Amino acid sequence: MSRQMGDSHRRFLQTMMANGMVDEQGAKRVYQYCCEIHNTQHAPDKLDDFIETINSKLQPMFMNIRKGMSEESGDQFYALVNMAETHVTRMTSDYADNELELFRKTLDLIVYSEKGNASSTDILNSADTMTTKKLKKSETQQLLNRLVHDNWLNEKRGEYTLSTRCIIEMEPYIRTMYQDQVKVCHICRNIAFQCQICENPTCGIKIHNPCVARYYKGKAEPRCPACEDFWPHEIPEVRRPRSQSRK
Ligand SMILES: [Zn+2]
Ligand SMILES: [Zn+2]
Repeated sequence: MSRQMGDSHRRFLQTMMANGMVDEQGAKRVYQYCCEIHNTQHAPDKLDDFIETINSKLQPMFMNIRKGMSEESGDQFYALVNMAETHVTRMTSDYADNELELFRKTLDLIVYSEKGNASSTDILNSADTMTTKKLKKSETQQLLNRLVHDNWLNEKRGEYTLSTRCIIEMEPYIRTMYQDQVKVCHICRNIAFQCQICENPTCGIKIHNPCVARYYKGKAEPRCPACEDFWPHEIPEVRRPRSQSRK
């Protein structure tokens, strides 16, 4: 297959640069549009190959279009990622040192939590142990709002989780920083935060909630795919594609 980057590839890349992240349906539409406008062949099932061609040219610039899954909806997303600084330092132009310290503390709380979330109360409390300039409660809350607005965190009823963008961009950093703690989903092999865990202490595999829904759909008695123990958690419904476009 040709690895030559053409006008259609370049246009796709421009769209990614402008948007940062697009969902799978959006990426497919852009792919089709780019091929049509530049009169090149469009194979609907070859989006990932098309992106691979772009990535092979992006590599020397330490850029990459990475694919990741929303832990809430199970939808796939594509994000343009700077691989040269896939860690918290990329945020230094937007956040002060003490704000980044609080973000790292939030990351700690989320990574070490069972369900991949941290409550605002726990985050506010963790601000008390800061070593850089302490943030007041109101400042911490404002910072959390900003992190949600900038799409690093999601918030629901006072519980904070990592956004899809954050997971796609920070996965290499998180895997390095939390080697012993981080687990991948047994089904999709992506890093797993919001998930269900096998209760067999010698097993303990994790499965994302949307992956649980898909994996156990139509199975009469849910059993762990690794140890075959009974899977004691509530099995969520498979969401209809695009029923919710939350990131
Ligand atoms: Zn999964
Ligand atoms: Zn198990």
